[in-house]
Amino acid sequence: MDWNLRACGRHGHETYQPLETDLAERLHAETAAGDAWRCLRCGDFVLGEPRRSGPADDAPVLLRGRALRDATVLRLLAAERGLRGVVIALLAFAVYDLRSSQATLNQWFAEKLPALRVTADAFNWNIDDSSMVHTIRSVLNAKSSTLNLVALGLAAYALLQIIEGVGLWLLKRWGEYFAVVATSLFIPFEVHEILKKVTWLRVGAFIINVGAVLYLLWSKRLFGIGGGREAYEAARHSAALIEVEQSAMTKPGPPAHVGSPEPDAG
Ligand SMILES: [Zn+2]
Repeated sequence: MDWNLRACGRHGHETYQPLETDLAERLHAETAAGDAWRCLRCGDFVLGEPRRSGPADDAPVLLRGRALRDATVLRLLAAERGLRGVVIALLAFAVYDLRSSQATLNQWFAEKLPALRVTADAFNWNIDDSSMVHTIRSVLNAKSSTLNLVALGLAAYALLQIIEGVGLWLLKRWGEYFAVVATSLFIPFEVHEILKKVTWLRVGAFIINVGAVLYLLWSKRLFGIGGGREAYEAARHSAALIEVEQSAMTKPGPPAHVGSPEPDAG
């Protein structure tokens, strides 16, 4: 799958005319149909005026190749986090809201239970031993303060998921660190849950979360892994087409003048 072409198909080609004429020549072609400029993302020559122009140093550093693939994966993860955050926030609200309708619901449940019991008996299902009925009973009889605590816990968890989702979606480095730390914190709890009872949902969530942590650590070089942020930015820049062309121009022969290396922007 060509991630570059896919992105160009969605957002259009990113052609750029650098002010430096020798560099511009390398990114320009004259065709029978007119001028064509090289797309900085997919590398194809595209007919028509360049989308942007300016000094080479101001050329956009586009997500290309591997960085683009990583961005797509992170945004999928961000969408999953965001969706989970919204569902849990709704649940938090439902628990908070339950306090006011607890008495009514309790009464309704008590009224319906005998009818339910008759139906269940027909299927040889002892409803009074059912864990679902136990859970409903204990929730309906829970103290208001307990429900408040549960709602608060759920709301905090929802907020965590939403912050994670936003940070990952915006492709921010803080978002990646936040996601790794927040996700790791819950992994021991997830292991504990799986040891209690193995369900597809639990195993699935566990695999996604462990995978996400490893993927972030490795692909984003967090916590100094593989050279850390500097190495990550360097790799991104070395993949930038305009910088590839620049270095191709300067490579042949020894440098004409001895200049100090570019100051490290940090
Ligand atoms: Zn393109």
